[in-house]
Amino acid sequence: MSLLDFVPSSLLTLGAALSLCLGAWLAFFVDESSGRFSGLTSSLSAGIMLTLGASMLLEDFAPLPVGLFVAGALATAALLHVSHHHAHHASSHSGAYVAGLSAAAVAAHSFPECFALFSAAMVSLPLGLALAAAMVMHHIPLGLSVAAPMRAEAGGLGKSLKYTALAGFAPAALAVLTYAFSHTLFSPDSLEPFLAFAGGILVCIAVIELLPGAWRVGKTGVVGAGFAAGAAVMSTVLLVAGLWEG
Ligand SMILES: [Zn+2]
Repeated sequence: MSLLDFVPSSLLTLGAALSLCLGAWLAFFVDESSGRFSGLTSSLSAGIMLTLGASMLLEDFAPLPVGLFVAGALATAALLHVSHHHAHHASSHSGAYVAGLSAAAVAAHSFPECFALFSAAMVSLPLGLALAAAMVMHHIPLGLSVAAPMRAEAGGLGKSLKYTALAGFAPAALAVLTYAFSHTLFSPDSLEPFLAFAGGILVCIAVIELLPGAWRVGKTGVVGAGFAAGAAVMSTVLLVAGLWEG
């Protein structure tokens, strides 16, 4: 495997992570305080990520992949728990401080997700693209929510773009480096262990973060329909792609 093999997956991962900036930019032009938009997009991406994550186990239901799947889910749950805990005590502080904390929480969620995206894209670029689309769908509303506390501040747009660029770039770069490093621990062309681990990450993010977030802001019918649509679209993509063969 040469360094060139990393380029498409790296670009895809970086692009999906940096879609946060688009959300931060939109926050200054669109009022999304009702949360209707993010209720739909978060449940859609939860449906996609849950289906894709679970499918990563179907191919090889053996002890090692199952163990790695559980390990991916547990590691992600621990990371989400820590980052959420820190983001909760912020309400009495300035807009930039609150935005900084939520940018850090977004970055903590982005790191395992970027790792999962990179792992999936290394096996199949079309499936990587589907996952990247799911990420963009919920990262635009996340960028909106990071930027929202800075809307009233002078220079808020520039600051929120800086925060979200960092919260997008750092975890993406870290995820690619982690992949490159841990890749040397396995046999050179074995990508399956990464897929199982990635599957655990995706299921965990969908269940612990995206779905509850969608319920909080969206109408029940919209969230249910979004989730079902995401699951249906992803199942179709997986069927057409022939489950990791294409
Ligand atoms: Zn995400």
